[in-house]
Amino acid sequence: MARQDVDIAIIGAGVVGLATALAIAPTGLRIAIFDAQKEPNEPSEERALNAWSRRVTALTPASIKFLESLEVWQSIHATQRVGAYTDMCVWDAEGTGCVQFTAEELRLRELGSIVESSVTVDALKRRAALVPNIQVFWDTRLDALSTHSEGAEMVTSSGDEVVASLTIGADGGRSKSRDFAAMRTRTWSYQQQAIVATVSVEPDHAATCWQAFLPSGPLALLPLADQNLCSIVWSLDETVSQKWIDADDEAFIQGLNAALSGRGPRVTAVSDRQAFPLVQCHAVNYFSHRFVLVGDAAHSIHPLAGQGINLGLSDARVLGGEICRAYERGADWGASQVLSRYERQRKGDNLSMMAAMQAFKWGFGSTDTAMTMLRNMGLNSVNALPRVKKWFIQQAVGG
Ligand SMILES: Cc1cc2nc3c(=O)[nH]c(=O)nc-3n(C[C@H](O)[C@H](O)[C@H](O)COP(=O)(O)OP(=O)(O)OC[C@H]3O[C@@H](n4cnc5c(N)ncnc54)[C@H](O)[C@@H]3O)c2cc1C
Repeated sequence: MARQDVDIAIIGAGVVGLATALAIAPTGLRIAIFDAQKEPNEPSEERALNAWSRRVTALTPASIKFLESLEVWQSIHATQRVGAYTDMCVWDAEGTGCVQFTAEELRLRELGSIVESSVTVDALKRRAALVPNIQVFWDTRLDALSTHSEGAEMVTSSGDEVVASLTIGADGGRSKSRDFAAMRTRTWSYQQQAIVATVSVEPDHAATCWQAFLPSGPLALLPLADQNLCSIVWSLDETVSQKWIDADDEAFIQGLNAALSGRGPRVTAVSDRQAFPLVQCHAVNYFSHRFVLVGDAAHSIHPLAGQGINLGLSDARVLGGEICRAYERGADWGASQVLSRYERQRKGDNLSMMAAMQAFKWGFGSTDTAMTMLRNMGLNSVNALPRVKKWFIQQAVGG
């Protein structure tokens, strides 16, 4: 068993773990990242329907700016797999309510960009490989962790012992590091699954994010870099999701077009499908002795507004900023005061987004006539009232 001493250990080399490492890297602190998965292959350059990764994220301008500051966005952009969108159209499939807005109204070039998660991870991974004080250990699972006032000791699946002054849990919604550190969570299942797939559309996606709110949850059509391809995220109750997973392509396409109720482009072909259980989970506290949570390990939310990754990137930016500032002052950068400043800045934002998701889920889950009228009025008044609408837009583009 070898022993490794590092300043900061990060558990999880997903988008958030890698971005956090890059945000801290200017300090020169020794950072080791451990990920249970084998090193991911390079993302596909193929553009056929089945070659696009099923998991995509809608990156807001704020997230893109952060990725630019890490010198990562430039290489994501160079892949030519970035679906920039200028318009958003959200409607109530059971009623008449609708919200529409454009980048032009906000004097922005675009409202955001749809990118495959695998492309973002690959760009972050390549950037991290150029930074001498970051080391990434793939195929190395965290098997044990004990924290104390001086730091933490860990054991990995390679049998090595790791000693770190600060440990960052970035190991996703089912975080083991969070469990080892005995951090409590509030968790509830929506008893829903999200079906994800790539679809061909006609005429084209018009650089628009299309989202239908159905009683079962939202169906989003997210524009990919190719103008006739979209990624879908369709949230469905567990009782009906299996029917759609098992359906043949023709029936599935018909079901999608019926759910879109004639708004947005028509779906003409579909790739293989995947499904994910939908769970909302929030850590009661984001830090304990020399241990701190970021990304889905701290908060996983319903994908209905596509904000999961944007919240996680904000965590990475704020935690990285606090650690860098403490380091520059010559202060103890792993101290509770530093971690609590991070928690104070992020918890409110994350909680309000989770509450909004819950309210949407509740409001649109109802088939009650009064509720239908109310939510139609809600969506239409958001469209009508410039100040409220502006607030709504700012959430969508990340402030
Ligand atoms: C169906 C679906 C659709 C979504 N759509 C969107 C969207 O449109 N927009 C959006 O913003 N977000 C979306 N999300 C959410 C988004 O995918 C997550 O918010 C994001 O991936 C979280 O990033 P992360 O780095 O925190 O965690 P993850 O991406 O989960 O990364 C965690 C990493 O930790 C590693 N790991 C786990 N356990 C261990 C261990 N014991 N030891 C070492 N390593 C470990 C894993 O291998 C993984 O690489 C969606 C999610 C789902 C399920």
